[in-house]
Amino acid sequence: MTAHPDSPRPRSNAAYERACRVLVAGVNSPVRAFGAVGGTPVFVDRAEGPDIFDVDGRRYVDLVGSWGSAIVGHAPPAVVEAVCRAAKSGLSFGACCAAESELAEIIVSALPSMEVARFVNSGTEATMSAIRLARAATGRSKIVKFIGCYHGHADSLLVAAGSGAATYGVPDSAGVPAAFAECTILVPYNDFNAVEQAMSKLGGEVAAILVEPIAGNMGYVEPLEGFLTGLRALCDRYGSLLIFDEVMTGFRTAWGGFQTVCGVRPDITCLGKVIGGGMPVAAYGARRELMSLVSPWGSMYQAGTLSGNPVGMAAGIATLRLCQSSGFYDELHRKSTQLSSDLRAAAANAGITLQAGAWGGLLGIAFSERPVRNFADAQACDHKLYARFFHAMLERGVWLPPSGYEAMFLSAAHDDHAITAIINAAKDAFRSIAS
Ligand SMILES: *Cc1c(COP(=O)(O)O)cnc(C)c1O
Repeated sequence: MTAHPDSPRPRSNAAYERACRVLVAGVNSPVRAFGAVGGTPVFVDRAEGPDIFDVDGRRYVDLVGSWGSAIVGHAPPAVVEAVCRAAKSGLSFGACCAAESELAEIIVSALPSMEVARFVNSGTEATMSAIRLARAATGRSKIVKFIGCYHGHADSLLVAAGSGAATYGVPDSAGVPAAFAECTILVPYNDFNAVEQAMSKLGGEVAAILVEPIAGNMGYVEPLEGFLTGLRALCDRYGSLLIFDEVMTGFRTAWGGFQTVCGVRPDITCLGKVIGGGMPVAAYGARRELMSLVSPWGSMYQAGTLSGNPVGMAAGIATLRLCQSSGFYDELHRKSTQLSSDLRAAAANAGITLQAGAWGGLLGIAFSERPVRNFADAQACDHKLYARFFHAMLERGVWLPPSGYEAMFLSAAHDDHAITAIINAAKDAFRSIAS
């Protein structure tokens, strides 16, 4: 792909052309390619606090935050120091270190549903392993998955998988054997009756119901009142396990995760993103009795060369310590809900109906006349208008997710100044796309 000659980002475009010669579409994760919004990806030079800087020296207020990892902002000094200190003592041992226990202690103390954790390197690994564990525990093979929820790219979960896949209009990935996909029962999010029906037919074969307690990979979709409680009851009735994929919501919507807000106790929890503070760290965990099935305590095999490496653990510990400060999540929640309602108001001023919601440091907008409750609603949103909004915001110095199927992420580093900058840019951007 060749850059437009008048492009305002010559260095970024040169970097992209170089990348396209040796990397698939120039990217290492599909949504980064700007396929949903058009144009060419902007290459990043560095990021600090609430801001991200491109290689052409432009500065943006960042509402992606490395897809949620950067909950205390980019390159927070305390985290960077901890990482440097750890790195000087060795990047990875492939052996036990005390930092693994320290991070695990923080996590299990925050999640009443989790007594024992296992660290892995990505959210994909966490959900893949959680499912293996549920299958090992129940001796069953089927999984109930909600349409539009994303749980990473493991074979049996790449079915109706939201964001990245939806962005490219490929609900099911090539290369996934039909036999794997057949183990996955698909149900619309927030449709309790549909889950109940599926379970009444197949409940005896269902190892687990897997759910994002707030769906953040088809935009931002909150669970309806009673939905998660209902899933818990169904799992109990049919002897299936309830898996909360809190890779996105964990330590972002609340200390621990959204399970501490909704009061529903899952059997297995998956974490990622925030718990690594920007390093590749994820985890799955459950009560001791379930985790006793995991190797080498039990016969469910799962391993990782770099799992629990000291640098990732240091980043996670330092990040969560900052999140632990009193009022941290209240403040984040206050700022996010304020921002989402200000965005809605700014859109209304320009004659545009915007749906907007937030919890903790997670928020989302949708160009839709009605509330978005499931994937069909998310698909019905005006994604072309989102694409125009995205570029209008980028030109005004705000870095949004490059797809209307993604949520937004606010950090503790987004001070009033940063939030005012977002709102001012949005007022102008809404006006420009409304005309
Ligand atoms: C990001 C995400 C994943 C996948 O995590 P990776 O680290 O990208 O593999 C899984 N589940 C949810 C809910 C996510 O948001």
